[in-house]
Amino acid sequence: MPIPQSIFRYAQAVRRRVHAHPELSAQEWHTASYLQAELEALGWSLVTIPDTPSFLAVWNPRGERFIGYRAELDALPIAEATDLPYASENAGIMHACGHDMHMAIAMGLAKMLAEGSAILPTGDDTASYGVVLVFESSEELLPGGAPAILSSSEFARYRPQSIFAFHADPSLATGQIGFHPGPFMASCDELYITVSGQGGHGAMPHLTTDPVLAAAQVIVALQAVRARMLPPFTPSVLTIGRVEALGATNVIPHQVKMQGTFRTHDEEVRRQAHARIATVAERVAESMGNTAQVEIRHGYPVLVNAPELCQSVRQMLSAECENAECVEVPMRMTADDFAYYAQQIPGLYLRLGVGVGAGLHTSAFSPDEQALGVALSALQVLCRHPERWGS
Ligand SMILES: [Zn+2]
Ligand SMILES: [Zn+2]
Repeated sequence: MPIPQSIFRYAQAVRRRVHAHPELSAQEWHTASYLQAELEALGWSLVTIPDTPSFLAVWNPRGERFIGYRAELDALPIAEATDLPYASENAGIMHACGHDMHMAIAMGLAKMLAEGSAILPTGDDTASYGVVLVFESSEELLPGGAPAILSSSEFARYRPQSIFAFHADPSLATGQIGFHPGPFMASCDELYITVSGQGGHGAMPHLTTDPVLAAAQVIVALQAVRARMLPPFTPSVLTIGRVEALGATNVIPHQVKMQGTFRTHDEEVRRQAHARIATVAERVAESMGNTAQVEIRHGYPVLVNAPELCQSVRQMLSAECENAECVEVPMRMTADDFAYYAQQIPGLYLRLGVGVGAGLHTSAFSPDEQALGVALSALQVLCRHPERWGS
């Protein structure tokens, strides 16, 4: 059963509205209040999360069991380079990660439930179901918006028995929905390493400890952590993406600052890696007469899709959602704070094909809006079978 054209048009209008008015992480107050006004008009109950733009919208708040859908509110510090008529009106800020699409999908579902084109079963013989839309601030910026939501009493009151998210994917054709059971998206931790020692004249390196050379050795040695100290069966990535040595052609600086990322798909491997990274950086720097100070800022955990939920939803959509093609997608080394929900609640994070085109986080990203209809058809099918959204 395709979704009504009026629902698609509504979701598209919401998408264009929020796309034109993007806001940065933790500052999405206008976006939140626009969506809240729409949801209120549709008869949804609203619950705000204190001190953040994040909020919940609840359908059937007296329900006994809830199912959840997460949409992010934030945009990125990117200057939009599309010529769309609804391009960003906020200079230097752009919805380049598809969060505008994710919000529009949530709002389309809100309208479908309000107008009866998606039905949640109720009755004496079955639990009465409700839906919680989780509108999350600040997904793009550590520590992410999810921890504050998950620890709130507001979320505890409507805690869903399972939770879903779509993420726009410009490597998939419109119509495709990407599934991956089990560990799917990586953990992501930020590395900050400072190598310090004695600098001096570039012509007299023997009178220095050359922190630049030591830092270079640290970079090389850290690749051995990944290649030789962690199990080869678990994917991992270690990247140093910034090196700052403010010397000159003839000046060896006293200090080199480096930044990077470590990512993997297993929490135990993640713990092992943190210890190894610190030890290797410190010892290598020491071996050359320098010190290394290592700070690892913990980012998002590994995102694990609940395998049974993944299988059951894939079966349901393959059988009942004519306009979606379910495909298997590989693991990814990118991260999403949806992982926090999925640590506590059976979660399913699906990739939504938006047509092959410019990548996420680029100024030319421009998803095919027809994908809104695909996601909404899928959610309409899920609403028919809430008992299969997890126990
Ligand atoms: Zn992003
Ligand atoms: Zn995103």
